[in-house]
Amino acid sequence: DREESFGIDESLKELAQLADTGGLMVVGSTYQKLPFPNPRTYIGSGKVSEIKSAIHALDVETVIFDDELSPGQLRNLEKAFGGDVRVCDRTALILDIFNQRAATHEAALQVALAQMEYQLPRLTRMWTHLERQAGGQVKGMGEKQIEVDKRILRTQIGILKKELESVRKHRKQYRNRRTSVPVPVVSLVGYTNAGKSTLLNRLTGANVLAEDRLFATLDPTTRRVQIKNRKEFLLTDTVGFIQKLPTMLVAAFRATLEEISESSLLVHVVDISHPLSEQQIEAVENVLSELDVSSIPKLMVWNKVDKAQDPQKIKLEAETREDVVCISALTGEGLEEFCDAVQHKVKDSMVWVEALVP
Ligand code: GDP
Repeated sequence: DREESFGIDESLKELAQLADTGGLMVVGSTYQKLPFPNPRTYIGSGKVSEIKSAIHALDVETVIFDDELSPGQLRNLEKAFGGDVRVCDRTALILDIFNQRAATHEAALQVALAQMEYQLPRLTRMWTHLERQAGGQVKGMGEKQIEVDKRILRTQIGILKKELESVRKHRKQYRNRRTSVPVPVVSLVGYTNAGKSTLLNRLTGANVLAEDRLFATLDPTTRRVQIKNRKEFLLTDTVGFIQKLPTMLVAAFRATLEEISESSLLVHVVDISHPLSEQQIEAVENVLSELDVSSIPKLMVWNKVDKAQDPQKIKLEAETREDVVCISALTGEGLEEFCDAVQHKVKDSMVWVEALVP
């Protein structure tokens, strides 16, 4: 049912952006509609041959599938494509990116945990495969080995979870110290590529990675903003949303969002030039409604107005809406209004902020 609101083309486009973020160069994409996936190779045999030709013609090193593949499908596809072609799925790709971007200890632990949980069900086939290679002489050994490996992995998962808990506790203590200073904390939330880091950079001159990539900011990054004669506030960036976040990564993603529950204001940054901006807004709001943030004031920012088809129309519409400010983080348009709106909103929530102070 997800396909209805988020089409195959959009999904593949997002996958291509993810691959780019992961440091890969995308040379092509294809899809196939089947009544149900082929249990052995996910796609049909004709499609396998087609991709195989493309691999040779274009000198492809990696083939990424947009849906999760079973360990058997992975192996069969790698065998079918031959050579050193690496086959992976969306989850493995996102895990790779998380891994590359994990800047803090906590993020690294979260990624390691998700990676182990991804591996756990994938151990099985690997061992039965080895058993078959050995010509059945070691029958039963594989089974035992799987159990041993699974036990080791589960123990490691348990240790990681405990460590994660302790790291979180410490971060909370640190946060409490920070909020004891009566400076409002403003959190940027929003879809990936909406322009959060660009806005942060623009306002602070901070050296936060801003690029046309997904997950440019895995860890919340906080900077001080002091503009002209306005009151100072802290601005925090959060990890961006994506449409098809694999279920097993949801926990890690949410954990990175937990921090926003202590903000004075949530700024929802929207790429208003994006054709699916409305759906993206909805997706973000759905997740926000599940977090404990309903009491926090919100401000919506329609960013990239410079890139919109009809900027004038969008600006007029924004004016009719309460709590919406139109900006371009790129050209700097609307940033004064943005800061005024933040100021205004934060003033409303000042009592709440000071109530937090021990
Ligand atoms: P984030 O994932 O939300 O942090 O998004 P980024 O700040 O990394 O921005 C994603 C891409 O959008 C980058 O290529 C930015 O240069 C571009 N971008 C950000 N803000 C604007 C804007 O106001 N106008 C235009 N045209 N591009 C923008």
